[in-house]
Amino acid sequence: MIIEKSSPPKDHATRYSLPATSGLYIHIPFCLQRCAYCDFASYALNALPNGLSFGSYADALIKEARLAAKERGAPRFSTLYFGGGTPSLMPLDELRRIVAALRESFNVSQIEEFTLEANPDTLDGEKLASWRELGVNRLSLGIQSLSDTSLKELGRSYSREEALGALARHRDELAAFDLSFDLLLNIPWQNPSQVLDDIRTLYAFEPVHLSLYSLKVEPGTPLAMRVANEPELAPDKDRFADEMGAAEKLLEESGFARYEVSNFARDGKWSLHNLTYWRGGNYLGLGVNATSCIRGVRTRNHREFADYRAALMRNELPVAERAELTETERAFERLMLALRTMWGISRDELPLRIWKKLQAKAEELAERHPQLIVAIPERIALTSAGMNVEHALVVELAEGDLWGEPV
Ligand code: SF4
Repeated sequence: MIIEKSSPPKDHATRYSLPATSGLYIHIPFCLQRCAYCDFASYALNALPNGLSFGSYADALIKEARLAAKERGAPRFSTLYFGGGTPSLMPLDELRRIVAALRESFNVSQIEEFTLEANPDTLDGEKLASWRELGVNRLSLGIQSLSDTSLKELGRSYSREEALGALARHRDELAAFDLSFDLLLNIPWQNPSQVLDDIRTLYAFEPVHLSLYSLKVEPGTPLAMRVANEPELAPDKDRFADEMGAAEKLLEESGFARYEVSNFARDGKWSLHNLTYWRGGNYLGLGVNATSCIRGVRTRNHREFADYRAALMRNELPVAERAELTETERAFERLMLALRTMWGISRDELPLRIWKKLQAKAEELAERHPQLIVAIPERIALTSAGMNVEHALVVELAEGDLWGEPV
């Protein structure tokens, strides 16, 4: 199906213009305990490696910020994101020191969005007020599930009652932030309808954003060992599609738009920071295992704190991997990430030689699967149904003689 030039690929995609953003990410690796499925760079507070404390980590981050600013200039950032780990565990005095150093090192005077990730059992009134004073205007709350059985099996540090109790107790302070909730789908210990009940329950706290991810079995995690012995616990892709379909219907009926494969927002309250990743903007990441991509140069920091700090003590950036992407690799990455979003990819985002071939393939694919993909002369985008099989569609679009060189 080839839609006429004037037909918008999606209502929301054309109603809201896309901001150009550049993001600063700070990784905070502390957690109350390790969840059974987690393979993020994080440490349980009772099992910190030698030399790691809130203070020593803040010192290292501050040093990295100063070095990065010296080596890379002092770029202007429009978003600031503290992710983890559980950044809400960071003591206020350390958090203030870090934010002050970021202000000294970079141009963050025009931050539009300042997000901090938090778990519900780490909220307290003093922290919430101080985060607001520091400029935090968006909280991303990792709820994951409101089923006690699931929370226990996943190794989360709170019960349903504790999570909802914390949200209720701090309702007034939370109202000062744009709230986003993370929920996991495909949890084998709960009914497929649990996620719908959870979304309805969380509506009471007026979120403007929800992220829905499938539970994944990452190698080396306690969950992976468990699934090896109990294969019936393995995530099921049909169940995921059903849960996502039902959740999407509920969210769209309530005014949320699915603007990215796993993300839903009300009133254009997209995660501007994550849009930087999906739209190919520049971002700088500080902290263990943090990644950066600036003008096509991608780096990843050391994952272990000891290696990370050792590099900084030598006055070196703690970079473990560095790759300079070729034009073709950049184009492939643009395609892969942009198609995750409802805006899709437009003609001016790719070299013309690639765009022309891609457009022909997309038109042909849209003829066969009009329910999955929309191709107009300037833009290619996936429908919501297409987002559910996004990986397969990208593979189909990207294979063959599109690039002129291997990617
Ligand atoms: S709270 Fe998040 S980062 Fe920490 S262990 Fe659990 S899943 Fe991993």
